Amino acid sequence: MNADVLVVGGGPAGSATALLLARAGVAVTVVERARFPRRKVCGEYLNAGALDALERLGALDAVRALGAPLRGVRLVPPGAPPVTLAFDRPALACAREALDAALLDAAVAAGAQVEHARVDDVLLDGERCAGVRVRTDDGALVERRARFVVGADGAGSVVARKLGLAQVARRRARYAVGGHYAGFGALDAHIEMYVGGGAYFALNPLDTERTNVMVVVPRDRLARWSADVDAGVGGAAAELGRGVRSFDGATRLGPRVSVGPLAHDVRRVVAPGALLVGDAAGFLDPFTGQGIFLALTGAEHAADAILAALREPAREAMALDAYARWRAGDVAWRRRLCAVVTLLVDVPPLARRAAARLGRFPDAGAALLDALAGAVPPQRAFRPAVLGSLLA
Ligand SMILES: Cc1cc2nc3c(=O)[nH]c(=O)nc-3n(C[C@H](O)[C@H](O)[C@H](O)COP(=O)(O)OP(=O)(O)OC[C@H]3O[C@@H](n4cnc5c(N)ncnc54)[C@H](O)[C@@H]3O)c2cc1C
Repeated sequence: MNADVLVVGGGPAGSATALLLARAGVAVTVVERARFPRRKVCGEYLNAGALDALERLGALDAVRALGAPLRGVRLVPPGAPPVTLAFDRPALACAREALDAALLDAAVAAGAQVEHARVDDVLLDGERCAGVRVRTDDGALVERRARFVVGADGAGSVVARKLGLAQVARRRARYAVGGHYAGFGALDAHIEMYVGGGAYFALNPLDTERTNVMVVVPRDRLARWSADVDAGVGGAAAELGRGVRSFDGATRLGPRVSVGPLAHDVRRVVAPGALLVGDAAGFLDPFTGQGIFLALTGAEHAADAILAALREPAREAMALDAYARWRAGDVAWRRRLCAVVTLLVDVPPLARRAAARLGRFPDAGAALLDALAGAVPPQRAFRPAVLGSLLA
């Protein structure tokens, strides 16, 4: 199998990168370890920026047909009434098994090839990444060479680790447990988030039958559940849901899924012959729901950089540098935004104050959502009229 570019991972970042490269005439192969459709632990909320990116990819109609429109998010802080933020731009709930399969199909339709195998190492020619080593379904280890490798293999990326780009994440680790459930009743096309004490309980209505339910807790809390995770999750949900929501009367559809620690950091997102995109390039706390947006917009920037590097190999370093600078600038602000939002959510008096102020200053809430969804640069959320209104 010959490819100009090998993309490791067929999630949103990998499929979108492959689609754009294939459309530009590049011979691209996606190496994906899972057979699609597959479950992926995710809140399954696509913000307005993600939908804009899907439109630019030409995949919006296909994805919209698989999801359900969302009208807003209801935040329920501890000891305070809920506050509802309306989405003034379209947003969607869409199960990841459907979304990811549709995006990979779109990449294939554009001309990308898919190989089902697990990448376990990178190949180096001196300092340059020259391909990957894969373990095929029948257990054989095979080398795949290419002019360029894209690490789109998510948090914990093998490509990042093997190229020496990964670093120990310094943030406090949280863990997520959840699944799809029936019996959660009407959510009126709203995400509901019950927050408190470094934990949250989130519900996202996928359709009239299914609700995506996630409980996210700090590591020490999860450790105490080892004897009975279902009971632990149920107890945390009942506590956070404060008598309004719990798992009582709900039935799980399919497996319970879990993931953690929710952290993955890298020192750099590029190396000679390779770049990282999506979660592989650094993971943002999922509370603010920016991951898929960032995976898709990152793919657009990554594809531009790779095309420039393939066109003019002598200018590869410059093209990769431009990608790295875009990523560093955008993500640094998104990380700061996540840190402030997480602080507001984790400290109950701050959460109560922010909720009250969101009620009084709905424009600040709308501006915050716009920044999270990429309608405006993330740094705009730090203007006094936005975060200042919530914190002062
Ligand atoms: C609990 C939780 C809730 C979240 N909620 C939301 C939300 O509501 N909205 C939102 O926008 N984002 C959310 N996110 C973030 C979002 O899921 C990610 O940002 C998004 O999936 C990133 O896409 P990706 O393509 O970079 O990586 P992934 O989606 O992780 O895809 C990586 C792919 O690489 C494959 N792979 C991995 N290793 C290998 C290997 N060695 N060889 C071959 N293939 C490999 C995997 O099988 C996978 O298909 C959430 C994340 C978590 C953990």
